[in-house]
Amino acid sequence: MRTLVISDIHANLTALETVLDHAGKVERVWCLGDVVGYGPSPNECIERVRNLPNVTCLLGNHDAAAINQIDIQTFNPEARISIEWLQGVLTEESLNFLTSLPMSKSFDQTTLVHGSPRQPVFEYLLDTQAATDNFDYFDTDFCFVGHTHLPVNFHLSNNDYTARLSIPPMNKVSQLEARTIINPGSVGQPRDRDPRAAYAIFDPSENTWDYRRVEYDIPAVQELMTAAGLPERHVIRLEGGW
Ligand code: ZN
Repeated sequence: MRTLVISDIHANLTALETVLDHAGKVERVWCLGDVVGYGPSPNECIERVRNLPNVTCLLGNHDAAAINQIDIQTFNPEARISIEWLQGVLTEESLNFLTSLPMSKSFDQTTLVHGSPRQPVFEYLLDTQAATDNFDYFDTDFCFVGHTHLPVNFHLSNNDYTARLSIPPMNKVSQLEARTIINPGSVGQPRDRDPRAAYAIFDPSENTWDYRRVEYDIPAVQELMTAAGLPERHVIRLEGGW
């Protein structure tokens, strides 16, 4: 089943549409959370995501903040401004959608969360130590995560004490090994200094991972953000990919 794996759209409809176009026909969509936050088109992104074919969407920390499930004091000042703006524009329908999102979900041999299997909404898997500890918290072959906006694989083999970090080959199909935590990167706000939108196509029958990057119209999104009065730092970072 050709599965589109996307994460951290962050209300960037232009990036999302570009990714959906580029991905082509898929039978299923897994969205790993943070549909909203930072970007200028939260309602539009929610509308688009909920109407995707056979879609499962997880709750991200920005999604949770938008519906007041977490204290926004835990965010930095600019993220807070952005969340307050977001809370002011979300429609009833969007709020209902965000409220309905699960924190984790499992399909056959894959677990889906936003942050980590240990702390599904909040933990950042940035290094091999944190990743290694998390292998005790899921028993499927794979765990797909978002949250850091960094495309990365952490694999823990039977012979190793520590997980190994690798960056998947770009625009190329690779084979996944069992017991791997995988991040497809971010659609709407990449942070690995590559500003192109990131996503992946997963094929569970072959255990293949096709990690891709695609250019989208960043100035168009920046214009919308500026017009909405969103923080300048969040506008600028899109073009630098940080
Ligand atoms: Zn995010």
